[in-house]
Amino acid sequence: MADKMTHMERGLAALSGEAVDRLTTYPIACGVCRKLLPGNVTYQQWANDPKLFGQAFVAGQKYFDFDFAIGLMDLSVMAGDLGAHVRMDEENTPFVDEHIVHDVEDYEKLEAPDIRKGRSNVLLEGTKYFAEKLKGEVITAGFLEGPLLALSQSAGAERMFMDMFTSPSAIHKALETTTAYDVEMVKAFGKTGVNGLCWDYLWDNYSCLGDAEYKEFEMTYADKLNALVGQEGMAMCIHNCADLPHLDTQISHYKPAIYSMAYYPLIPGSPKPSEVIEKGYADNCLVAGVIDPQLFIRGTEEKITKVTQDLCQEVKTALCKKGLKSKYCISSGCEVPPDCNTKMENIKAVVEATKIYGAF
Ligand SMILES: [Zn+2]
Repeated sequence: MADKMTHMERGLAALSGEAVDRLTTYPIACGVCRKLLPGNVTYQQWANDPKLFGQAFVAGQKYFDFDFAIGLMDLSVMAGDLGAHVRMDEENTPFVDEHIVHDVEDYEKLEAPDIRKGRSNVLLEGTKYFAEKLKGEVITAGFLEGPLLALSQSAGAERMFMDMFTSPSAIHKALETTTAYDVEMVKAFGKTGVNGLCWDYLWDNYSCLGDAEYKEFEMTYADKLNALVGQEGMAMCIHNCADLPHLDTQISHYKPAIYSMAYYPLIPGSPKPSEVIEKGYADNCLVAGVIDPQLFIRGTEEKITKVTQDLCQEVKTALCKKGLKSKYCISSGCEVPPDCNTKMENIKAVVEATKIYGAF
């Protein structure tokens, strides 16, 4: 079926709750798009070269025909620049293999790095590259870790969660540092030309923290950061692929333009897309999700097409019941694995199936 609206028209209509020709779609295909570049670009090259980083998003847009472009690199960018050791294999997502907190005193020693160096700079320059190239074609956004996630990546999550209860003031000192780093990054993203900025507030999740703890250890910092995103001229978006996210905080309180989430059918209480819509969370927010990222590696094209079809049907029915026209984006629950074995045809299948089954 041929689209009747441009990506930009559809994206803007979806964000403002107006009628669309079909649901928007954006499988979160980021690092995997390096495979579309000439010369067998490795993950390691992609994650360290702003031009390659940006070019992959441009190539991805051209090949897959998405409705959005969101510039996620990986979750070790900030931790690496804060001093943690990042293991960087040729073809694996980089990860922290040596944390920087070994003692409670170490939290206070953290220093916000110079964002014009390291991978923070690669991320900013690479984001600027694709924001310029895709300007006017799709809605673009940068991607940044929230202060608590940046700290857990640097200190180690297990250690941080324990120290929260025994040494809260040390944690707050460190959070002031990661927040100061985020402030500089938000201001710099504001100058790249992206339309939005997407936070990862992973720990706002009932499996890890209750409302009171989350409020104390991230919400107070995040409120200011979210406001700054708006002041810097960007739409505020959130990605949270946790099993039991605090939707009252993440959507009702933070009020993001886009909220990207996952769904875990085997975990009791994990919110289903139709439930999220029925409970009113999509009334003023474009909710995105929830295709299982593993399907892009393990699923067949037929299987992922059927999953997309069923998801389109589920959300269209729920939207209709609520009198909503466009507030759902067919997406993956988390990043499409940037793995060498990820099937590019499966990413394409999600987009093509949304064009057919997401039509109104
Ligand atoms: Zn995720």
